[in-house]
Amino acid sequence: MATRFSIRTSGCQMNVHDTEKVANLLHHAGMNGAAEEADADLLILNTCSIREKAEHRLYSDLGTLRAWKAERAGRLIGVGGCVAQQEGDTILRRFPQVDFVFGTHNLRHVPALIDDAKAGRRRVETEENRSLERFDLPERHPALSHTTPGRAFLTVMEGCDMFCSFCIVPRTRGREISRPAQAILDEARHLVEHGVCEITLLGQTVNAYGRHDLRRGHSARAGTMPFHQLLAQLDAIPGLRRLRYTSPHPIFFDEGLIRAHGELESLCPHVHLPAQSGSDRILDAMRRRYTGDELRAIASALRGARPDLVVTTDLIVGFPGERDEDFADTLRLVQDIGFVDSYSFKYSARPGTRAPTLEDAVAPDRAQERLEALQALQRDLTIAYHRSRVGQDVEVLVEGWSRRGHQLSGRDPQHRIVNLEAPGEAGLEPGAFTWARVVEATPHSLLGEPLPPANLLGIASFR
Ligand code: SF4
Repeated sequence: MATRFSIRTSGCQMNVHDTEKVANLLHHAGMNGAAEEADADLLILNTCSIREKAEHRLYSDLGTLRAWKAERAGRLIGVGGCVAQQEGDTILRRFPQVDFVFGTHNLRHVPALIDDAKAGRRRVETEENRSLERFDLPERHPALSHTTPGRAFLTVMEGCDMFCSFCIVPRTRGREISRPAQAILDEARHLVEHGVCEITLLGQTVNAYGRHDLRRGHSARAGTMPFHQLLAQLDAIPGLRRLRYTSPHPIFFDEGLIRAHGELESLCPHVHLPAQSGSDRILDAMRRRYTGDELRAIASALRGARPDLVVTTDLIVGFPGERDEDFADTLRLVQDIGFVDSYSFKYSARPGTRAPTLEDAVAPDRAQERLEALQALQRDLTIAYHRSRVGQDVEVLVEGWSRRGHQLSGRDPQHRIVNLEAPGEAGLEPGAFTWARVVEATPHSLLGEPLPPANLLGIASFR
């Protein structure tokens, strides 16, 4: 009987996409996805090390998985992702229940690692691979087409050379490497031919795409180009209705990229602009290489190019040396830019980064207070934005059933969640586009009533 696998994923969208890539490889190797972990023969943990908490969760999960493994002979456990990249064979030594470990550049080796594990050979593959061959993965297996109907991630670059003082990613994901544009365009066309209408381009600093080649005058040889030109070529693919990208770095928003937001029909009016702090002093200590006013200028230029564009962000509170006045600057920035949403966290010291060596650590209860104040402000901004959308007609790409189970849920071009009333009557399914009238705003989503096709005659475009 074919091996049945299950994959647990922590962390960012890069990890979510890596999980899809591993699942794809396993399907191509003749394995099947298990409906539940209880049915699986193989469990892979795709880990995140961005915060200490996520790393500790892996160790506690591995402890409880001893019992899962003992329930049935032949069961296997693999560990991948950023913690695997960092810790390598330490994981095999500490946890005898783990059969193989693979790093962020070694996804292609997972089927071979599984074969070895079945033969009783426990192995680690965490070598950094600086060649483009790590992007050479098989096309999406038909078994995966139902997982995210109509939507797909597409990696355009990997790694990060920015070395922000709090971040472990350059050490877990390696140096920046950009794929040739032709390979990206071919993959995008293939996805569209197979029913995908929304593509999210992925990269640790996605808008730094091709920058080293451009700087060295190598872009023709490397087949790369400025990011905004790549967006324009993707926008020209017939049938690609929505294009998104994440995560950009603020310093790589050039004029071409700002202009692209006003010109490219498929480019969605949403930018995730990771601010991290609003204090210039803290931004400098974080090595972010921009100021609060530069962030304000980027947000305003983006809105100048595309007035309905929304901006979301990431923020860290309690970074070493953050005083009350620095935190006040962060609140001011959030208010000034009017972020529609944010992911905010207390600073978490990561070994191997520079920030833990900085003086003036912030007391945990002070950091907690700041986090709560920041999140309260964000809640106000989010609900105010959602209320401003009530009465509007929005285009929704349906993703699946909402958490409550009686509504369908999807996203509008601004990436807001829209829950749809009475989806059965409208005959909607995941992967379909519909128009809906927003009838209610909640703190986390919009509630919409699907519009029957007859009502759509007057709606030419969502712009
Ligand atoms: S830009 Fe900074 S925060 Fe983002 S991945 Fe690179 S080092 Fe980490």
